[in-house]
Amino acid sequence: MSPLRIGIVGAGIVGASCALTLAREGHQVIVFEPEVPGGPHAASHGNGGWISPASILPMSTPGLWRKIPGYLLDPQGPLTLRASSLPSLLPWLWRFVRAGSTWDKVRLTASALHRLLHDAPDRHRELAHWANASHLLHHTGLLYVYPHRPAFEADAMAWQIRREHGVSWVELSGDALQARAPALPRADQLGVWLPSGAWCSDPGEYVRRLMVAAQRAGAQLRHTRVHALQRQPGRCTGLLTDQGACSVDRVLITAGIDSPRLAREAGDALPLASERGYHVVLPHAGLELPVPIMPSDGRMANTLTAQGLRLAGQVELAHPSAPPNWARADALLAHARRTYPVLDQDERRRGTTRWMGHRPSTPDGLPVIGPSPHCEGLWYACGHGHVGLAAAARTALWVTQGISAPNIGAPAGEWQDFSMGRLA
Ligand SMILES: Cc1cc2nc3c(=O)[nH]c(=O)nc-3n(C[C@H](O)[C@H](O)[C@H](O)COP(=O)(O)OP(=O)(O)OC[C@H]3O[C@@H](n4cnc5c(N)ncnc54)[C@H](O)[C@@H]3O)c2cc1C
Repeated sequence: MSPLRIGIVGAGIVGASCALTLAREGHQVIVFEPEVPGGPHAASHGNGGWISPASILPMSTPGLWRKIPGYLLDPQGPLTLRASSLPSLLPWLWRFVRAGSTWDKVRLTASALHRLLHDAPDRHRELAHWANASHLLHHTGLLYVYPHRPAFEADAMAWQIRREHGVSWVELSGDALQARAPALPRADQLGVWLPSGAWCSDPGEYVRRLMVAAQRAGAQLRHTRVHALQRQPGRCTGLLTDQGACSVDRVLITAGIDSPRLAREAGDALPLASERGYHVVLPHAGLELPVPIMPSDGRMANTLTAQGLRLAGQVELAHPSAPPNWARADALLAHARRTYPVLDQDERRRGTTRWMGHRPSTPDGLPVIGPSPHCEGLWYACGHGHVGLAAAARTALWVTQGISAPNIGAPAGEWQDFSMGRLA
């Protein structure tokens, strides 16, 4: 394989993972990123830190459309739609509802996500080792918690699909659940412990370290924004930035929610919407949380991070430029106080911080990984929605395996289900 000169647009978890993996394969990598890699501007900074091989169910499942009016009205619910953004979101929403309209469609999506995520903890173990970041990853499992067994049974189809894909878990209740999750009050809860799951205790620092390691492996980091693609008919030849033009053999777009703007220039319609999420960090929560918990009714990740207890979740469909609605973050805190009564003390909330970020989401819940169908030399690795941290390591592997093949009509690899073609 002859080394290529590759320009990467954006150093979130996906761009940084690709930069490191490509640089280690001997490619000449140049990363363009106007902000500090892993900083709070990016989705990769504030996520829940979960690296779960069980995250294979898309958001859209049969019957969802019936629930949408309720989502519009419930100020505390885990999913909401900003009414003012509804007209611009309608085409995406239509595709979103259709993508999950039958369980057969959901199964196909789950199979594809399984190929992307089945070995995510191991893939990250390797990346973290290269990046001197092994201490940020914890291979101690993940815990989903249901308020009672009937709630778990109501979710039976999701767990059956996981089982069909080889995901295994252990059901815990009573003393066994208490031992695993001492912060939960004694009640009828049912825990679903996923021993294969891993988590990251500082996602922003992880991205920063991946970029430093990429630079050690020979990549360049240029602190500048990419404004446009440099093109000849049918071909992408470089990038135009604040600092001038840069010619490359390949351009890889990993710009999160900003990816569609550059894709449009190449004639590619990337249907990404921002599924905005929020987090609250409690530096003095005082909770014993040996493994992260996801309470099913709050649909949020409760993870002990370097900054404190992070409550990360909520899905708010709204235009990327709409201001944050901090009531969504407050809903996370309110839910946590119900889940862990010990939090219901004011001094525990000292120094609390809040954050909002954009999950770059496709309607079918699969990222776009692979070459542009219209523009030779242009590649995408974006749209990772809810699983960008978990999926970044294998995404980087696939990009590295595929990017040196000729672009248009490249033989589909394992990533064929993620091609732009499926979205046409
Ligand atoms: C609340 C919340 C909880 C989550 N929890 C989890 C979880 O537990 N596990 C999980 O796997 N995923 C989780 N996610 C999803 C995950 O965070 C995202 O899928 C992932 O961070 C997307 O990474 P990215 O690199 O594609 O985008 P980003 O992290 O947004 O990075 C994109 C980068 O591109 C740069 N950029 C943009 N435009 C340009 C340009 N023109 N020129 C140069 N650079 C540019 C930006 O500055 C940015 O640094 C969560 C997300 C949220 C919001």
